[in-house]
Amino acid sequence: MAPTNLIGVPFDALKAALAEAGVAERAVGMRARQLWNWAYVHGAQDFASMSNLAKDFRGSMASRFSLARPEIVTEQISSDGTRKWLLRGAGGSEFETVFIPEPGRGTLCVSSQVGCTLNCRFCHTGTQRLVRNLTPQEIVGQVMVARDALNDWPSTGENRRLTNVVMMGMGEPLYNFENVKAALAIVADGDGLALSRRRITLSTAGVVPMIKRAGDEIGSSLAISLHAARDDVRDVIVPLNKKYPIAELLQACRDYPGVSNARRITFEYVMLKNLNDSLADARELVRVIRGIPAKINLIPFNPWPGAPYECSDWAQIEKFADVVNRAGYASPVRTPRGRDIMAACGQLKSESVKQRASERMAELRSQELARMPT
Ligand code: SAH
Repeated sequence: MAPTNLIGVPFDALKAALAEAGVAERAVGMRARQLWNWAYVHGAQDFASMSNLAKDFRGSMASRFSLARPEIVTEQISSDGTRKWLLRGAGGSEFETVFIPEPGRGTLCVSSQVGCTLNCRFCHTGTQRLVRNLTPQEIVGQVMVARDALNDWPSTGENRRLTNVVMMGMGEPLYNFENVKAALAIVADGDGLALSRRRITLSTAGVVPMIKRAGDEIGSSLAISLHAARDDVRDVIVPLNKKYPIAELLQACRDYPGVSNARRITFEYVMLKNLNDSLADARELVRVIRGIPAKINLIPFNPWPGAPYECSDWAQIEKFADVVNRAGYASPVRTPRGRDIMAACGQLKSESVKQRASERMAELRSQELARMPT
Protein backbone atom coordinates (compact mmCIF):
# COMPACT_ATOMS: atom_id res chain seq x y z
CA MET A 1 0.00 0.00 0.00
CA ALA A 2 1.23 3.53 -0.78
CA PRO A 3 2.27 5.42 2.35
CA THR A 4 -0.18 8.06 3.60
CA ASN A 5 1.14 11.56 3.03
CA LEU A 6 0.94 13.52 6.29
CA ILE A 7 1.50 16.96 4.74
CA GLY A 8 -1.64 19.09 5.05
CA VAL A 9 -3.27 16.71 7.53
CA PRO A 10 -4.73 18.74 10.45
CA PHE A 11 -3.12 18.23 13.84
CA ASP A 12 -6.04 16.29 15.31
CA ALA A 13 -6.16 13.98 12.32
CA LEU A 14 -2.43 13.44 12.66
CA LYS A 15 -2.94 12.30 16.24
CA ALA A 16 -5.67 9.94 15.09
CA ALA A 17 -3.40 8.53 12.37
CA LEU A 18 -0.65 7.89 14.92
CA ALA A 19 -3.06 6.15 17.29
CA GLU A 20 -4.22 3.98 14.44
CA ALA A 21 -0.61 3.18 13.59
CA GLY A 22 -0.21 1.76 17.09
CA VAL A 23 1.35 4.67 18.97
CA ALA A 24 0.33 4.32 22.64
CA GLU A 25 -2.43 6.71 23.67
CA ARG A 26 -0.39 8.54 26.28
CA ALA A 27 2.37 9.21 23.70
CA VAL A 28 0.18 10.29 20.80
CA GLY A 29 0.15 14.02 21.62
CA MET A 30 3.89 14.22 22.14
CA ARG A 31 4.69 12.19 19.00
CA ALA A 32 2.33 14.30 16.91
CA ARG A 33 4.01 17.49 18.17
CA GLN A 34 7.45 16.10 17.36
CA LEU A 35 6.48 15.08 13.83
CA TRP A 36 4.69 18.37 13.26
CA ASN A 37 7.78 20.28 14.31
CA TRP A 38 10.09 18.22 12.10
CA ALA A 39 7.76 18.53 9.12
CA TYR A 40 6.84 22.21 9.24
CA VAL A 41 9.53 23.97 11.25
CA HIS A 42 12.50 21.98 9.97
CA GLY A 43 11.14 20.85 6.62
CA ALA A 44 12.10 17.21 7.11
CA GLN A 45 11.41 15.23 3.97
CA ASP A 46 11.76 11.81 5.56
CA PHE A 47 11.59 10.19 8.97
CA ALA A 48 15.19 8.96 8.97
CA SER A 49 16.45 12.52 9.45
CA MET A 50 14.47 13.04 12.68
CA SER A 51 17.52 12.54 14.80
CA ASN A 52 15.96 12.93 18.26
CA LEU A 53 13.40 10.16 17.72
CA ALA A 54 13.98 6.47 18.48
CA LYS A 55 15.14 4.47 15.50
CA ASP A 56 12.38 1.89 15.56
CA PHE A 57 9.74 4.63 15.82
CA ARG A 58 11.23 6.32 12.76
CA GLY A 59 11.19 2.99 10.94
CA SER A 60 7.58 2.29 11.79
CA MET A 61 6.58 5.81 10.64
CA ALA A 62 8.49 5.43 7.38
CA SER A 63 6.70 2.18 6.58
CA ARG A 64 3.29 3.86 6.83
CA PHE A 65 3.67 7.55 6.12
CA SER A 66 5.43 10.05 3.89
CA LEU A 67 6.07 13.81 3.87
CA ALA A 68 5.98 14.13 0.12
CA ARG A 69 5.76 17.44 -1.74
CA PRO A 70 3.92 17.93 -5.00
CA GLU A 71 6.14 16.84 -7.88
CA ILE A 72 8.10 19.72 -9.44
CA VAL A 73 7.55 19.66 -13.20
CA THR A 74 9.57 22.79 -14.02
CA GLU A 75 11.22 25.66 -12.23
CA GLN A 76 11.79 28.97 -14.02
CA ILE A 77 13.75 31.94 -12.76
CA SER A 78 13.05 35.42 -14.10
CA SER A 79 15.73 37.99 -14.81
CA ASP A 80 14.31 39.93 -11.82
CA GLY A 81 14.73 36.97 -9.44
CA THR A 82 11.08 35.89 -9.45
CA ARG A 83 10.75 32.12 -9.48
CA LYS A 84 7.87 30.07 -10.78
CA TRP A 85 7.27 26.39 -10.16
CA LEU A 86 4.92 24.25 -12.16
CA LEU A 87 3.77 21.49 -9.83
CA ARG A 88 1.90 18.27 -10.40
CA GLY A 89 -0.59 16.86 -7.93
CA ALA A 90 -2.61 13.68 -7.73
CA GLY A 91 -4.19 12.61 -10.99
CA GLY A 92 -1.68 14.64 -13.00
CA SER A 93 -3.31 18.08 -12.48
CA GLU A 94 -0.84 20.91 -12.72
CA PHE A 95 -0.72 24.22 -10.88
CA GLU A 96 1.71 27.08 -10.42
CA THR A 97 3.38 28.87 -7.51
CA VAL A 98 5.40 32.07 -7.76
CA PHE A 99 8.03 33.45 -5.37
CA ILE A 100 8.63 37.21 -5.51
CA PRO A 101 11.74 38.38 -3.65
CA GLU A 102 11.84 41.99 -2.50
CA PRO A 103 14.26 43.83 -0.24
CA GLY A 104 13.58 42.60 3.29
CA ARG A 105 10.75 40.27 2.36
CA GLY A 106 9.69 37.49 0.06
CA THR A 107 6.15 36.76 -1.02
CA LEU A 108 4.84 33.46 -2.25
CA CYS A 109 1.84 33.63 -4.54
CA VAL A 110 -0.11 30.43 -3.90
CA SER A 111 -2.78 28.76 -6.05
CA SER A 112 -6.05 27.45 -4.62
CA GLN A 113 -7.46 25.69 -7.67
CA VAL A 114 -6.30 24.13 -10.92
CA GLY A 115 -7.73 26.66 -13.37
CA CYS A 116 -10.64 28.90 -12.37
CA THR A 117 -14.37 29.13 -13.01
CA LEU A 118 -14.66 32.91 -12.85
CA ASN A 119 -13.60 33.86 -16.40
CA CYS A 120 -12.46 37.40 -15.64
CA ARG A 121 -11.91 38.83 -19.11
CA PHE A 122 -8.36 40.09 -18.49
CA CYS A 123 -7.02 36.99 -16.70
CA HIS A 124 -5.17 34.20 -18.45
CA THR A 125 -6.11 31.59 -15.82
CA GLY A 126 -9.75 32.30 -16.65
CA THR A 127 -9.25 30.86 -20.12
CA GLN A 128 -8.45 27.50 -18.57
CA ARG A 129 -11.38 25.33 -17.65
CA LEU A 130 -11.46 24.41 -13.97
CA VAL A 131 -10.16 20.95 -13.39
CA ARG A 132 -10.50 20.80 -9.63
CA ASN A 133 -9.93 22.28 -6.18
CA LEU A 134 -6.47 21.85 -4.70
CA THR A 135 -6.27 19.79 -1.51
CA PRO A 136 -4.84 21.16 1.76
CA GLN A 137 -1.83 18.96 1.03
CA GLU A 138 -1.25 20.64 -2.33
CA ILE A 139 -1.74 24.13 -0.91
CA VAL A 140 0.62 23.60 2.03
CA GLY A 141 2.90 21.70 -0.36
CA GLN A 142 3.43 24.87 -2.41
CA VAL A 143 4.92 26.65 0.60
CA MET A 144 7.11 23.64 1.37
CA VAL A 145 8.41 23.36 -2.18
CA ALA A 146 9.37 27.02 -2.07
CA ARG A 147 11.11 26.73 1.31
CA ASP A 148 12.97 23.64 0.04
CA ALA A 149 14.17 25.41 -3.09
CA LEU A 150 15.11 28.59 -1.24
CA ASN A 151 16.91 26.59 1.45
CA ASP A 152 14.67 28.46 3.86
CA TRP A 153 14.31 26.12 6.85
CA PRO A 154 13.68 26.40 9.74
CA SER A 155 10.40 28.26 9.28
CA THR A 156 11.06 30.18 12.49
CA GLY A 157 14.50 31.40 11.34
CA GLU A 158 15.49 35.02 11.85
CA ASN A 159 16.38 35.76 8.27
CA ARG A 160 13.89 33.59 6.46
CA ARG A 161 13.37 34.49 2.82
CA LEU A 162 9.74 33.52 2.49
CA THR A 163 7.94 35.97 4.81
CA ASN A 164 4.48 36.42 3.25
CA VAL A 165 1.87 34.33 1.50
CA VAL A 166 -0.76 35.72 -0.85
CA MET A 167 -3.60 33.53 -2.09
CA MET A 168 -3.37 35.18 -5.49
CA GLY A 169 -2.31 32.35 -7.73
CA MET A 170 -4.65 30.29 -9.87
CA GLY A 171 -8.23 29.91 -8.70
CA GLU A 172 -10.76 31.55 -6.40
CA PRO A 173 -9.87 30.69 -2.79
CA LEU A 174 -13.39 31.33 -1.50
CA TYR A 175 -14.72 28.67 -3.86
CA ASN A 176 -12.42 26.19 -2.12
CA PHE A 177 -13.05 27.45 1.38
CA GLU A 178 -12.59 24.35 3.53
CA ASN A 179 -9.32 23.28 1.92
CA VAL A 180 -7.89 26.80 1.96
CA LYS A 181 -8.88 27.18 5.60
CA ALA A 182 -7.27 23.87 6.59
CA ALA A 183 -4.10 24.71 4.69
CA LEU A 184 -3.76 28.24 6.06
CA ALA A 185 -4.19 26.95 9.61
CA ILE A 186 -0.91 25.06 9.10
CA VAL A 187 0.78 27.95 7.31
CA ALA A 188 -0.19 30.33 10.15
CA ASP A 189 0.57 27.96 13.03
CA GLY A 190 3.46 29.29 15.12
CA ASP A 191 4.67 25.70 15.55
CA GLY A 192 4.01 25.04 11.87
CA LEU A 193 5.07 27.11 8.87
CA ALA A 194 4.95 30.10 11.21
CA LEU A 195 3.70 32.93 9.02
CA SER A 196 1.39 35.07 11.13
CA ARG A 197 -2.12 35.72 9.84
CA ARG A 198 -1.21 39.31 9.06
CA ARG A 199 1.41 38.05 6.66
CA ILE A 200 -1.17 35.97 4.83
CA THR A 201 -3.49 37.70 2.38
CA LEU A 202 -6.50 36.06 0.85
CA SER A 203 -7.62 37.61 -2.40
CA THR A 204 -11.13 37.21 -3.77
CA ALA A 205 -12.94 38.41 -6.86
CA GLY A 206 -15.91 38.96 -4.54
CA VAL A 207 -17.65 35.83 -3.32
CA VAL A 208 -19.73 37.96 -0.96
CA PRO A 209 -21.43 35.26 1.16
CA MET A 210 -18.05 33.76 2.13
CA ILE A 211 -16.22 36.96 3.08
CA LYS A 212 -17.43 37.17 6.68
CA ARG A 213 -16.65 33.50 7.23
CA ALA A 214 -13.17 34.06 5.85
CA GLY A 215 -12.63 36.79 8.41
CA ASP A 216 -14.03 34.76 11.30
CA GLU A 217 -12.50 31.40 10.49
CA ILE A 218 -9.28 32.19 8.61
CA GLY A 219 -8.52 35.66 9.94
CA SER A 220 -6.01 36.61 7.27
CA SER A 221 -5.68 39.98 5.59
CA LEU A 222 -8.18 40.55 2.80
CA ALA A 223 -7.66 41.72 -0.76
CA ILE A 224 -10.49 42.38 -3.18
CA SER A 225 -10.04 42.23 -6.93
CA LEU A 226 -12.23 45.26 -7.58
CA HIS A 227 -10.95 46.58 -10.95
CA ALA A 228 -13.93 48.83 -11.58
CA ALA A 229 -16.09 51.19 -9.56
CA ARG A 230 -19.16 50.94 -11.79
CA ASP A 231 -21.32 47.87 -12.15
CA ASP A 232 -21.70 48.22 -15.91
CA VAL A 233 -17.90 48.01 -16.34
CA ARG A 234 -17.32 45.39 -13.67
CA ASP A 235 -20.10 43.17 -15.04
CA VAL A 236 -18.03 42.81 -18.20
CA ILE A 237 -14.55 42.29 -16.80
CA VAL A 238 -15.43 40.35 -13.61
CA PRO A 239 -18.62 38.45 -14.55
CA LEU A 240 -19.10 37.40 -10.90
CA ASN A 241 -20.21 41.00 -10.38
CA LYS A 242 -23.57 40.16 -11.96
CA LYS A 243 -24.18 37.86 -9.01
CA TYR A 244 -22.61 40.03 -6.30
CA PRO A 245 -22.62 43.68 -7.39
CA ILE A 246 -20.25 46.35 -6.09
CA ALA A 247 -22.52 47.73 -3.35
CA GLU A 248 -22.94 44.28 -1.77
CA LEU A 249 -19.25 43.56 -2.08
CA LEU A 250 -18.26 46.80 -0.43
CA GLN A 251 -20.77 46.25 2.37
CA ALA A 252 -19.07 42.90 3.06
CA CYS A 253 -15.77 44.78 3.22
CA ARG A 254 -17.16 47.28 5.73
CA ASP A 255 -18.33 44.32 7.82
CA TYR A 256 -15.09 42.32 7.48
CA PRO A 257 -14.15 41.09 10.96
CA GLY A 258 -11.13 42.91 12.32
CA VAL A 259 -10.91 45.58 9.63
CA SER A 260 -9.34 48.79 10.96
CA ASN A 261 -6.81 51.42 10.01
CA ALA A 262 -4.11 49.07 11.21
CA ARG A 263 -5.61 46.22 9.20
CA ARG A 264 -6.71 47.68 5.93
CA ILE A 265 -8.35 45.98 3.02
CA THR A 266 -6.38 45.99 -0.20
CA PHE A 267 -8.31 46.81 -3.34
CA GLU A 268 -6.63 45.53 -6.47
CA TYR A 269 -7.28 47.51 -9.61
CA VAL A 270 -5.88 46.33 -12.93
CA MET A 271 -5.22 49.23 -15.30
CA LEU A 272 -6.92 48.58 -18.64
CA LYS A 273 -6.49 51.14 -21.37
CA ASN A 274 -9.64 53.16 -22.12
CA LEU A 275 -11.74 50.80 -20.07
CA ASN A 276 -11.41 51.65 -16.39
CA ASP A 277 -8.53 54.13 -16.33
CA SER A 278 -10.09 57.58 -16.77
CA LEU A 279 -9.83 60.21 -14.05
CA ALA A 280 -13.62 60.00 -13.69
CA ASP A 281 -13.11 56.29 -12.92
CA ALA A 282 -10.53 57.21 -10.28
CA ARG A 283 -12.90 59.68 -8.66
CA GLU A 284 -15.73 57.14 -8.71
CA LEU A 285 -13.39 54.59 -7.11
CA VAL A 286 -12.55 56.78 -4.14
CA ARG A 287 -16.19 57.76 -3.82
CA VAL A 288 -17.51 54.19 -3.56
CA ILE A 289 -14.92 52.98 -1.07
CA ARG A 290 -15.24 55.99 1.21
CA GLY A 291 -15.20 54.96 4.87
CA ILE A 292 -13.45 51.63 4.31
CA PRO A 293 -9.91 51.46 5.75
CA ALA A 294 -8.18 50.63 2.49
CA LYS A 295 -5.15 50.78 0.28
CA ILE A 296 -5.39 50.54 -3.44
CA ASN A 297 -3.00 48.46 -5.44
CA LEU A 298 -2.84 49.61 -9.04
CA ILE A 299 -1.73 46.73 -11.22
CA PRO A 300 -0.48 47.45 -14.74
CA PHE A 301 -2.26 44.94 -16.96
CA ASN A 302 0.02 42.04 -17.81
CA PRO A 303 -0.45 40.83 -21.36
CA TRP A 304 -0.84 37.24 -22.46
CA PRO A 305 -1.32 35.66 -25.88
CA GLY A 306 -4.74 36.57 -27.26
CA ALA A 307 -5.65 38.95 -24.43
CA PRO A 308 -8.47 41.32 -25.44
CA TYR A 309 -7.03 44.34 -23.57
CA GLU A 310 -4.03 46.63 -23.41
CA CYS A 311 -2.25 48.12 -20.43
CA SER A 312 -2.98 51.78 -19.70
CA ASP A 313 -0.27 54.27 -20.63
CA TRP A 314 2.18 54.93 -17.84
CA ALA A 315 1.32 58.63 -17.69
CA GLN A 316 -2.34 57.75 -17.27
CA ILE A 317 -1.58 55.29 -14.46
CA GLU A 318 0.32 58.06 -12.68
CA LYS A 319 -2.53 60.55 -13.05
CA PHE A 320 -4.99 57.93 -11.81
CA ALA A 321 -2.76 57.18 -8.82
CA ASP A 322 -2.60 60.88 -8.08
CA VAL A 323 -6.37 61.22 -7.77
CA VAL A 324 -6.50 58.21 -5.47
CA ASN A 325 -3.60 59.54 -3.44
CA ARG A 326 -5.05 62.97 -2.99
CA ALA A 327 -8.22 61.34 -1.64
CA GLY A 328 -6.06 59.94 1.18
CA TYR A 329 -5.37 56.41 0.02
CA ALA A 330 -1.98 54.83 -0.42
CA SER A 331 -1.95 53.78 -4.06
CA PRO A 332 1.27 51.99 -4.92
CA VAL A 333 1.59 50.94 -8.53
CA ARG A 334 2.60 47.31 -8.47
CA THR A 335 5.79 46.75 -10.46
CA PRO A 336 5.19 43.83 -12.77
CA ARG A 337 7.37 40.92 -11.69
CA GLY A 338 8.35 37.84 -13.61
CA ARG A 339 6.67 38.84 -16.88
CA ASP A 340 9.44 37.15 -18.88
CA ILE A 341 8.47 33.76 -17.44
CA MET A 342 4.69 34.42 -17.53
CA ALA A 343 4.67 34.59 -13.74
CA ALA A 344 3.10 38.04 -13.31
CA CYS A 345 -0.44 38.65 -12.01
CA GLY A 346 -3.00 37.05 -14.25
CA GLN A 347 -0.51 35.22 -16.44
CA LEU A 348 -0.66 31.84 -14.73
CA LYS A 349 -2.09 29.00 -16.70
CA SER A 350 -0.99 25.40 -16.50
CA GLU A 351 -0.98 23.29 -19.60
CA SER A 352 -2.85 20.28 -18.22
CA VAL A 353 -6.16 21.25 -19.75
CA LYS A 354 -4.73 22.33 -23.04
CA GLN A 355 -2.97 19.03 -23.32
CA ARG A 356 -6.17 17.23 -22.61
CA ALA A 357 -7.96 19.27 -25.25
CA SER A 358 -5.29 18.36 -27.79
CA GLU A 359 -5.55 14.72 -26.83
CA ARG A 360 -9.29 14.96 -27.37
CA MET A 361 -8.69 16.51 -30.79
CA ALA A 362 -6.34 13.70 -31.71
CA GLU A 363 -8.93 11.19 -30.58
CA LEU A 364 -11.69 12.85 -32.60
CA ARG A 365 -9.46 12.96 -35.64
CA SER A 366 -8.64 9.30 -35.38
CA GLN A 367 -12.35 8.49 -34.97
CA GLU A 368 -13.11 10.57 -38.03
CA LEU A 369 -10.41 8.82 -39.97
CA ALA A 370 -11.87 5.48 -38.91
CA ARG A 371 -15.27 6.55 -40.21
CA MET A 372 -13.98 7.73 -43.57
CA PRO A 373 -14.78 5.45 -46.46
CA THR A 374 -11.66 3.75 -47.72
N1 SAH B 1 -9.60 34.72 -7.72
C1 SAH B 1 -8.89 35.54 -6.76
C2 SAH B 1 -7.44 35.15 -6.63
C3 SAH B 1 -6.60 35.44 -7.88
S1 SAH B 1 -5.67 36.85 -7.55
C4 SAH B 1 -9.07 37.00 -7.11
O1 SAH B 1 -9.59 37.29 -8.19
O2 SAH B 1 -8.71 37.85 -6.31
C5 SAH B 1 -4.97 37.28 -9.06
C6 SAH B 1 -4.92 38.79 -9.19
O3 SAH B 1 -4.32 39.14 -10.45
C7 SAH B 1 -6.29 39.38 -9.18
O4 SAH B 1 -6.32 40.62 -8.55
C8 SAH B 1 -6.53 39.52 -10.65
O5 SAH B 1 -7.57 40.40 -10.91
C9 SAH B 1 -5.18 40.00 -11.14
N2 SAH B 1 -5.00 39.81 -12.59
C10 SAH B 1 -5.58 38.86 -13.35
N3 SAH B 1 -5.17 38.97 -14.63
C11 SAH B 1 -4.33 40.01 -14.67
C12 SAH B 1 -3.56 40.58 -15.72
N4 SAH B 1 -3.60 40.10 -16.96
N5 SAH B 1 -2.78 41.63 -15.41
C13 SAH B 1 -2.71 42.10 -14.15
N6 SAH B 1 -3.40 41.58 -13.11
C14 SAH B 1 -4.21 40.55 -13.37
